[in-house]
Amino acid sequence: MQIDINGFKTDVSTNGVGTPSTTGLIHNYSSCCKASAGKQDFCKECGKEVPKEEVLKGVELVKGEPAIFSQEEIKSLKGTAEAGSVLKIDGSIPANQLSNYEPLKSYWLSPKKDKSNKKRYGMILAGLARSPAPAENYALVGKVILRDNEYWGAIYEQGGKVRFTTFLYVDDQRTNKIDYVEAEQVEGEKMRQLFASIPPAQPEAYENQYAERLVEAVEARLEGRVIEIMPEAVSVGNEMEDLERALLVAKVGV
Ligand SMILES: [Zn+2]
Repeated sequence: MQIDINGFKTDVSTNGVGTPSTTGLIHNYSSCCKASAGKQDFCKECGKEVPKEEVLKGVELVKGEPAIFSQEEIKSLKGTAEAGSVLKIDGSIPANQLSNYEPLKSYWLSPKKDKSNKKRYGMILAGLARSPAPAENYALVGKVILRDNEYWGAIYEQGGKVRFTTFLYVDDQRTNKIDYVEAEQVEGEKMRQLFASIPPAQPEAYENQYAERLVEAVEARLEGRVIEIMPEAVSVGNEMEDLERALLVAKVGV
């Protein structure tokens, strides 16, 4: 990816925050060969379709030797009641401290339809959003098993709703050292001048223009019209020259 600040361009690599450890994931196996049945319930050994009720659930720690478990055994392993996954809250932290952890997935929570759940949801929301100072808002933290793995996550108020985010275990976080050349103080000040010259952001105004271009390109292709090719991104040159030019662009809007 390239960061472009008024033409001050920097090439960067995008590194994922990491993935949770996947030891012991439960997969589908065929009843005929105890071979992987994938999501399509198709025996990868003999190529036969496996009837839904005959699909086995297993864990393959040693390649080719899955340990098969019954539904009841899996349920008990997951520690889940009939109702499904339980997020058991066992701690709280100030909501703004969640940024210290690597988020995995985020969800809006909504109450199940009945009156009691709606009321309870409202009560939790009221408690989470109790303070006008966001720094004092609670995030409630706990662990939950979702589908394939056990996660830790937090519920907190966002935009008048209860948000639930799962996070990487700190043990799974990558400790990649980032390699860069430190800037002089004067360079940092110049950069802040540049940032100050950029207009305030309006995220509400962002639209998916790529999707629009794609639709246009499909129409053009179907009508036999020529599709315009965009020029490639220019490589980076002298930093200070680029910074001065970027500041000038901000000033005169060239
Ligand atoms: Zn088979």
